[in-house]
Amino acid sequence: MKAYLVEDAEAFAKVSDVRDALGHLQAFGLGPIGELAVRQIEDADWLEAWKESFTPIRIGAFLVRPTWSDARDDGAIALVLDPGMAFGTGLHPTTQQCLEVLSRLPLDGARVLDVGTGSGILAIAAAKRGAGKVVAVDIDPLAVRAATENAKGNDVSVDIRAGSVADVVGTFDMVLANLVGPVLVQVASHLRARLRTSATLVAAGITTQAEPEVLDAFSAQGLGVVDRIERSDWVRLILTA
Ligand code: SAM
Repeated sequence: MKAYLVEDAEAFAKVSDVRDALGHLQAFGLGPIGELAVRQIEDADWLEAWKESFTPIRIGAFLVRPTWSDARDDGAIALVLDPGMAFGTGLHPTTQQCLEVLSRLPLDGARVLDVGTGSGILAIAAAKRGAGKVVAVDIDPLAVRAATENAKGNDVSVDIRAGSVADVVGTFDMVLANLVGPVLVQVASHLRARLRTSATLVAAGITTQAEPEVLDAFSAQGLGVVDRIERSDWVRLILTA
């Protein structure tokens, strides 16, 4: 187990509390408990460290690569990203599950809404697959900034806004929602309201544990599952009305 602490006036006291608590675990017969190791991380390392794990990756029709890589795959649609502090490098199973859908469903001229766009990865992928209009929202201002930069870097037009699905008007042929189970439950009625007749909702970020509750919320909105996949305990659903 690793924990990260801000190095402030209380940091040493917190480390000492953890060391004591580990000692108590041994008193309960749990063990062996290793030595507590403490290491200082410089801010610069912290901000840059994740970049080492972001390497080019082929997902369906797409090659997702960071801005600092010049990897090429002539058969693939390039998604060039600098996610900054936003979610969405293509490495997470939930993002991959959505990119796979965007690889195979026809999108020419489609109106697409991406709720919780993060780095903008799904919105940009939809635009590159020929979507006629793409709207993307996120409640995190860092995500809005990253997605805006990434759309520009990929030379695609995406209408990126701060906010959530409740702030969007109009209807769409496809709504993408890679959120988490409890948030999907919370916004289920708003997602439904943004779907045109026979439109598709792609919902991801659902743990197998949260799935029943999410299915109930969608079913209450008249949405039925037409496709489901599960990978590493993450479920992706495709639903229609
Ligand atoms: N779409 C990206 C992807 O597939 O990799 C990012 C998905 S990430 C799991 C979820 C994103 O949803 C985060 O950027 C988070 O800020 C945003 N988010 C969380 N709750 C939200 C809500 N209620 N409305 C809009 N965005 C939300």
